[in-house]
Amino acid sequence: MKRKLTDNVKRIEQRIEDACQRVDRDVSRIKMVAVTKTVSLDVIRNLLDVGVRDVGESKVQELDKRAAMIQEGLNRRTRDHGLPAIPRPRWHMVGHLQRNKVKALLPWVEMIHSVDSLRLAEEIDAQAAKIDRVIPILVEINVSGESAKHGVAVAATTHLVEQLNTLDHLEVHGLMAMGPLTDDETRIRLTFERVQELYDEVVSERACGPHFKELSMGMSNDFEHAIEFGATIVRIGTALFEGIEMNHPAAEPAQTE
Ligand SMILES: *Cc1c(COP(=O)(O)O)cnc(C)c1O
Repeated sequence: MKRKLTDNVKRIEQRIEDACQRVDRDVSRIKMVAVTKTVSLDVIRNLLDVGVRDVGESKVQELDKRAAMIQEGLNRRTRDHGLPAIPRPRWHMVGHLQRNKVKALLPWVEMIHSVDSLRLAEEIDAQAAKIDRVIPILVEINVSGESAKHGVAVAATTHLVEQLNTLDHLEVHGLMAMGPLTDDETRIRLTFERVQELYDEVVSERACGPHFKELSMGMSNDFEHAIEFGATIVRIGTALFEGIEMNHPAAEPAQTE
């Protein structure tokens, strides 16, 4: 499995590089988050072994459980077997987040991609204060119109970013968006272009703070287009696990609950 994973990672990295070259962007500005919701813990362990550090889950329960189990394994490896420490993974929460799950999420999460309301952000702020952390977050915007349930409206984004800047225990690192569920490349590109414009608007209106540098958009089917329009974080699942058994029950899209 390790060889297959290594090949897949290399292939995606190459595609990221090619996409950057086409639009004259610096490839070091793009980070890949491996979205592992469809694969087993064993696949995640192998991913870490081949050097992937940023992993994403779309459900709090899964993220918590998996992060705890992986950490336990890493501890055992150094403690009991004297093996060199592998850096711990950085866990990204990419799916819809409910306020009552925030507390359980915070001890493990590196970045929350899916903040779409002041109320949710206030809960993150309050819980983060209790454990003395400052949580990097992204504001999820609803641009495609299809996943109408989640994400803040385009017109409300700048104001929300301004409000979130007043919270001490979170940092707004940028925006997150999902492309439309379609093969229509024109529509995909128009959507990402709109997100890029919105990102630039937030920056030019000085609504954002110093950490506002990330644009999380692009998945297996559309990440090259996303890079064309300024993505700095691409969230890749399916394409990364091609040829590897998908045996996890949570193999369903995040946004259909
Ligand atoms: C599942 C998921 C991804 C990865 O999707 P693929 O099409 O498998 O690459 C990215 N972002 C979010 C929010 C997801 O839920």
